[in-house]
Amino acid sequence: MRLRLALTTLALIALYPAARFGPALVTSSPPATADVPAMPPVAAAAEAAIPASPQLTAPAPAELAQTELAQTPAMEPAPTDTAAPEALQEEPPGPQERILVVTRGDTLAGLLDDAGVDSAEAHAAIDRLSRQFRPNLLRPGQEIAIRLAQGDEPALIEIEIEPEPGRTVRVVRQADGDWADSETIAPRSRYLVRAEGTVDGGLFPAMTRSGVPAGMALSLIRILGHQVDFQRDLQPGDSFSILFDRFRTNEGDILAHGEILKASLTMSGRTLEIWRHKNRAGDLGWYDSLGQSLRRSFMRTPLDGARVSSGFGPRRHPILGFNRMHQGIDFAAPTGTPIYAAADGVVISAKRERGYGLIVRIRHANGVETRYAHMSRFGRNIAGGRRVRQGAVIGAVGSTGMSTGPHLHYEIVVRGRAVNPARHVQPPVRLAGHDLRDFRARQARIARIADGFGSGDEVALAGN
Ligand SMILES: [Zn+2]
Repeated sequence: MRLRLALTTLALIALYPAARFGPALVTSSPPATADVPAMPPVAAAAEAAIPASPQLTAPAPAELAQTELAQTPAMEPAPTDTAAPEALQEEPPGPQERILVVTRGDTLAGLLDDAGVDSAEAHAAIDRLSRQFRPNLLRPGQEIAIRLAQGDEPALIEIEIEPEPGRTVRVVRQADGDWADSETIAPRSRYLVRAEGTVDGGLFPAMTRSGVPAGMALSLIRILGHQVDFQRDLQPGDSFSILFDRFRTNEGDILAHGEILKASLTMSGRTLEIWRHKNRAGDLGWYDSLGQSLRRSFMRTPLDGARVSSGFGPRRHPILGFNRMHQGIDFAAPTGTPIYAAADGVVISAKRERGYGLIVRIRHANGVETRYAHMSRFGRNIAGGRRVRQGAVIGAVGSTGMSTGPHLHYEIVVRGRAVNPARHVQPPVRLAGHDLRDFRARQARIARIADGFGSGDEVALAGN
């Protein structure tokens, strides 16, 4: 069977949250992919946003190139009355705008400190800014505009960052001293793009050749990689088709790429199709064409790159030397390999237990408990009562307790009875009710739109 649709591999998809897929456009409005024709009108979002302070909006490239801008007329409107020169000298100097350029290892706090901003002030501003933008996502080369009131020591008035092309976030100090955050999205139009190609000499180059942005191609390969063994399954002549969205300015320049809506990979005539969809609860996920989630309720291999070193069932115990039921599966992996929560749940305990060594027990829905033993250490914040999501790191492989070498001993216990994790196949999460209707309607809309155009083409989507 060329399509390795083994449930074990499917489960790993949960490790790659949608947020990491490609250069996503993050806005405070609902993601564009949530619904195609009724997508949130981006222009409206821009209007709704607090108007940009004109002096900071879209600095010309030439201005950006300067590391420090002197006071410009735009910053402080020139006095309209013809005041006497001596009267002007009485006025305090206006605010100063500076552009800080991020270099490797810089933090926003550090840059503000270098600019002479008081650290408590900087902290308050950053704190507020982080509602719109995580400061640890700063990239080398990125520019940050700040405005400072001139005085004995410079007082911070405003910080502005453009995390993605066309999206600007800022914090501005208010009259009462508090900070207000805002986001501006440049007017843009959304297009649906189809990229198709034939694989010869690698899926990645074939995808990028057909116009798929490199980051998006990598994400997609990562997702598909849990269902397809590229080494074995992919052959020359196999083909792919990817639908994704792209944003352009009103002048037609590409602002950014959005998300993949659908991807299909045809290998020796068999087609694997995946759809990205957001359900009504707001969870984004990947589904097959029937609306079955690619994410399983339980991961069968709660760690990456491991091999089964001992299966479930009776065996001669390596240390005890007599036959004994092996209540779980052993995965051999190097010490320190991260271990993931196999499903959403609540940590029952994370402690040292006889035989098990360092063990985490997690309680899941429907009376299921999972156990992860012989860990070298626990994950951060992993303790009894903690809620964990599937794929969260709960600890690391070790050899504590009764163990002959680094491995994970993994158990699934259903209502007090150990079951074989390899056979504990949970029915796939399937969209139902409203969610399934939404999904089908969206599939039909996308298919209708996509039918009319060919590879490399793009079509404008309704609602900008
Ligand atoms: Zn074991």
